[in-house]
Amino acid sequence: MSKNSCCVYLGGKLAAYGFGNDHPFGPQRHHVFEQAFHQQQLEQRIDILSPVKTDRRTLELFHAEEYIDKVIEQSKFGVGYLDNGDTPAFTGMYEAACYVAGSVVDAIEQLMDKDYKKAFIPIAGLHHARRHVAAGFCVVNDCGIAIETLLQKYDLQRVAYVDIDAHHGDGVFYSFEDDPRLIFADMHEDGRFLYPGTGAITETGKGRATGTKLNIPMPPQSNDELFFKMWPHVENFLEKHRPQFILFQCGADSIKGDPITHMEYSEKAHAHAAKSLSDMAERHCNGKLLAMGGGGYNHDNIAKTWTAVVEAMAG
Ligand SMILES: [Zn+2]
Repeated sequence: MSKNSCCVYLGGKLAAYGFGNDHPFGPQRHHVFEQAFHQQQLEQRIDILSPVKTDRRTLELFHAEEYIDKVIEQSKFGVGYLDNGDTPAFTGMYEAACYVAGSVVDAIEQLMDKDYKKAFIPIAGLHHARRHVAAGFCVVNDCGIAIETLLQKYDLQRVAYVDIDAHHGDGVFYSFEDDPRLIFADMHEDGRFLYPGTGAITETGKGRATGTKLNIPMPPQSNDELFFKMWPHVENFLEKHRPQFILFQCGADSIKGDPITHMEYSEKAHAHAAKSLSDMAERHCNGKLLAMGGGGYNHDNIAKTWTAVVEAMAG
């Protein structure tokens, strides 16, 4: 029996997913969170679990076999790019990606089969990768793997994915655009001003999935006031669909001061969303809420935002 109902995954195997010290997505992202977590003595209220490695069978729940072959091959020497120039290959990236995806799937097992109700994985939420290709620093899409695990292995019919990273979660959205079992809600910087350029308000799902997706493009320089004004739309939308499990991508790149976006929330936005989703999970999902760190390239913002999220989740 665990003593706490909330856990976080920490360890060098997760920090190893990144593109080196000189890249915005480097190993320090993990370390600054870990340091802030201990400074705030959160280990007294939240259990720490070690990263877990998965195998290609799990990756294949979401990704194409040929794409995984390509990642394994380019992982040997770390040369070139996995896409058109955003996502460089790095040596050991296949193993690193297996730890990100493995920790996410292990967290699902902890929540579905064991005593934990809530989990947070800092280096996760790689929401741009598609089934056949990498994109935007994302070698694999652990969010997509998590969704497929919940649909295929646990036979859930209503899985919610909520994303407040500055960037649109295009890899998740387009992979499940016509699947009504994914309840998708995404607040992001308007695609006219930021990568990947997608996520218009008119994109609500296709075919029988029409109406199961909510995209809210936010203007550049959006602040907490605007976030708090729009968040109830996400709450009402989710409430209407009564999710059985909630995934939360809480990217810290929508916080003021991020070097690659133009958003200006404070960590209060993320803490509020985490508390709101925790309450919703209690109402509909036996408390099950899995949060993934997502983006965020300002180290101070990562430290304060992710600790605010786990604190809100731990209650
Ligand atoms: Zn982002």
